[in-house]
Amino acid sequence: MDALDIPAVAVPTRAPPRRRFTPRVPDRSGEGRARHLSPLSIAMLAPPWIPVPSPGYGGVESVVSTLTDALVRRGHDVVLFAAPGSVSTATVAPLLERAHPEEIERALYEADHVSQAFDRIDGAERARRFDVIHDHCGFTALAMANRIATPLLHTLHGPFTPETGPFYAEHGHKGTLVAISRAQLAGAPTGLVSSGPIPNPIDLQRWSSRERKGDYVLWIGRITPEKGPHRAIAAARAVDVPIILAGVIQPGQQAFFDAEIAPHIDGERVRFIGEVGGSAKQSLFAHARGLLMPIRWPEPFGMVIVEALASGTPVIAFPEGAAPELIHDGITGFLVPDERGMADAIGHLPRIRSGACRAWVAEHCDADVVAARYELAYRSCAPAQSGPEGGASGV
Ligand code: UDP
Repeated sequence: MDALDIPAVAVPTRAPPRRRFTPRVPDRSGEGRARHLSPLSIAMLAPPWIPVPSPGYGGVESVVSTLTDALVRRGHDVVLFAAPGSVSTATVAPLLERAHPEEIERALYEADHVSQAFDRIDGAERARRFDVIHDHCGFTALAMANRIATPLLHTLHGPFTPETGPFYAEHGHKGTLVAISRAQLAGAPTGLVSSGPIPNPIDLQRWSSRERKGDYVLWIGRITPEKGPHRAIAAARAVDVPIILAGVIQPGQQAFFDAEIAPHIDGERVRFIGEVGGSAKQSLFAHARGLLMPIRWPEPFGMVIVEALASGTPVIAFPEGAAPELIHDGITGFLVPDERGMADAIGHLPRIRSGACRAWVAEHCDADVVAARYELAYRSCAPAQSGPEGGASGV
């Protein structure tokens, strides 16, 4: 299957755009800097759990950080509402007393964080009025988006599930929804209007590749069965190639780790190094022969795929979720059906050129390309519709 096929022009909104957002014709290529348009005032609403950027694990936080910095570089006025400890080139507005990494998805903290953000956005001086809220924050902000005058754009970060589908069917019309992959949209409730996909961004300049690779393949992520660290070990062992595993053991997954991962760790052929971040993580990606992604779930994106490609490191993945959109089979990696196929593909990794991997990222996911696409989406944002029958606004 061909790699991510991102339409250059966003789908227009159903509702007429607000006048002050679209005073002139936007840059339809989505790639230029659209300097002729006035800068936007953007309230970037990160989740309350982990500081931005995350010191280690934190996919949403890394997306928020990269996009925010790119928007600031492009001349926009961005206020980042985020957990205390966040650092950004935007104005940072922490709301709660502390971050809550151990209490992710507890309504108490999300409601507190979002309501304080809405109070500040609503109460902003006339001169500091926001044009748009870009929400990355679970469910509370979208559910309440029709209670605030500022239009809200909500990036869909997770897959649609039996629990979240009805939520979006009920509340999706209150904001502009942006998907991150076609695979994610495939699971959307019938009738839900969304836009994009706009892929997650990466600041390619901050990632470098290496000609000389190490001897190992890499697995990195959350230690859960659907992410497949045990299948990655099986594939690497089948061809006797060393594997390094990095990541966090998710709450409730210690028994899985003890049963399926720990018995294989020998410190040589199978190494587990726990959570990594910063330059150590980048070095791990850049030195790897390849990244293994034996996922068995409809993963809506897969930031580690893009991070590997940005490091000039090919990816071998099962064709689940967004993987077929992010990996150009035979050019930037391989799509394989199972562990046996993954083991075989490890031998073919030297066929993949680092330059092709980085070129794909530059074209589709570089921060500037993604920020330009979000700018179009922001300028097309409409205020909340009055009810589900009004339909959601699209980009
Ligand atoms: N990550 C990290 N350190 C780790 C494990 C993961 O920084 O030890 C990062 C990883 O580089 C990526 C994010 O956490 O940026 C995981 O995002 P992804 O979309 O791959 O997976 P998710 O967990 O969101 O399903």
